[in-house]
Amino acid sequence: MRTRFAPSPTGYLHVGGARTALFNWLLARKLGGSFILRVEDTDEARNTPEARQAIFDAMLWLGLDWDEGPRPDGTTRGEYGPYYQSQRKASYDKWFKKLQESDRVYEDDGAWRFRFERKPITMQDLICGEVTIDYREESNTPDMVVRRSDGSYVFHFVNVVDDLEMGITHAIRGEDHLMNTPKHLQLFEAFGVEPPQYGHIPLILNMDGSKMGKRDQGASVDGYIKDGFLPEAVFNFLALLGWSPKDENEIFSMAEIVDRFSLEAVNRSPAKFDSEKCAWINQQHLMQLSPEAFAERAMPYVQATYETLPENSTEIIASVQEKVKLLTEVPAAIEFFLNADFAYDAKALDKVRGNEAVADLLKQLAEAFASLDDWSAAKSTIGETAKANGAKPGQLMFPTRVALSGQAGGPDLGAILDLLGKEECVRRINRTVE
Ligand code: GLU
Repeated sequence: MRTRFAPSPTGYLHVGGARTALFNWLLARKLGGSFILRVEDTDEARNTPEARQAIFDAMLWLGLDWDEGPRPDGTTRGEYGPYYQSQRKASYDKWFKKLQESDRVYEDDGAWRFRFERKPITMQDLICGEVTIDYREESNTPDMVVRRSDGSYVFHFVNVVDDLEMGITHAIRGEDHLMNTPKHLQLFEAFGVEPPQYGHIPLILNMDGSKMGKRDQGASVDGYIKDGFLPEAVFNFLALLGWSPKDENEIFSMAEIVDRFSLEAVNRSPAKFDSEKCAWINQQHLMQLSPEAFAERAMPYVQATYETLPENSTEIIASVQEKVKLLTEVPAAIEFFLNADFAYDAKALDKVRGNEAVADLLKQLAEAFASLDDWSAAKSTIGETAKANGAKPGQLMFPTRVALSGQAGGPDLGAILDLLGKEECVRRINRTVE
C-alpha cells in the first residue's frame, strides 16, 4: 500500500496539514506500506525554497519521515518522481492527450473542459462512509476546466494524474476535499485506472467553534518548535485531533500510536483544537523522560539564555522537570541557581522579613548550617532548628525556600540544598535576613 502527503507550500506547515501528514504516515507505518511526499507547488509565486524547507523541517521535527519524495538536500528518493508538480508537465500533457483521444475533453475559448458523466457517483469513504453525489443536474455542475488557456492544468487534474502515476492506494486528506472526490473519481474512470481509497478527516475547529484558520493561535508547526514543545508530544496531540484511542489514557509514544491507530477510530465530527490540552500533553511527556533526557532536551534553551553554566547544570535542570509545561520555561525556572543576585518574590519575602520570629529562626538556621560537617544532613537540620525553638518544621521550610530561591514554590527543597551547597545556602540565608 502507498499513501502520500501532498502539501501546497504556503510558507509553513499548519496543524491541519501536519495532522493530514500524520494520519497518512500512521496508516503507512501501520500497514507496512510506503509514505510519499509530493509537493503541490503549481502556484509559482509561493513556491519558494523557504516554503519547501519549512515543510521538510516541520515534518522531520515531528518524526514523519517519508520513503519517497524530495529530500531537503536537493536530492530525490523514489522511482515515481519527479515529486514536485512544477516538474511534472510532461506527465500532465501525456494524460491530457488521452482525454483528447477518447473525446472526454472539448475546447471552450482556448481552455479545455472535461465532459462529466451525468450520473450519481457513490463513493465509499474510509472515514465518512458511503457518500453519493448526483451529477445529473447540469446547471449545478458545469463541465470542469482541466486545462487553462495558458496551457496550465487545474488542481483536480494534476492531483489525479499524480496519484495515478505514483501508484497511490490510500489518500487521507482534509474534509474540504470530500466534494472534489467525485470529480477525481470521474477522471480516474476516464483514464481507466483504479482510484485510491480516499479517507476525509474532519475539520479542526477553534474552541469557540469557528473553523481554524492559518493565522489562528497554534496554527503553525513552527510555533511549537520555538515554544519548547517536544515533537513526540505534538505528535501525540495531533493524533488525538480526530482519532480516539478508546482508552482512558491519552498519553502515548509514537510507537504506541502506530500500534493502536486505525481509520475506524477516526471521528466523523470536527475536532476541537485545545491549546491548553496540547501544553498538558507536553507536560506529561516531559515527566516521562528520565532526568538526564529531560536535561538534554532542555539544554539548547538553557544555553541560549546563559553564557556559562556550572558543572552541575544537568542536575539543576533536572530539578525543575516537574515544574514546567514547556522547555522554554526552563531558563527562568532555574535562574535562581545560576544567578546569585536573583530577585525575590516580593510577597514571599515580606512573609519572611516582616516576621521577626521567622527571621530569627533563619539566623539560627544559618549558624547551624555553617557548623554542619555533613551537608547531607542539611534538610533534617531545618526540622531540628525549628523544634529547638518550639516551632514546627513546616514553619521554617517556607522561609528557607524563599531565602534560597526567592520564590514561594519551585523544586524540592532537598534538591535546592544539595545543588546550591553549604556556603551558598549560608550566604543566601544571611543575605535575606540582614
Ligand atoms: N494540495 C492539496 C491540499 O493541500 C492536496 C489535496 C489532496 O491531498 O489530495 O489540500
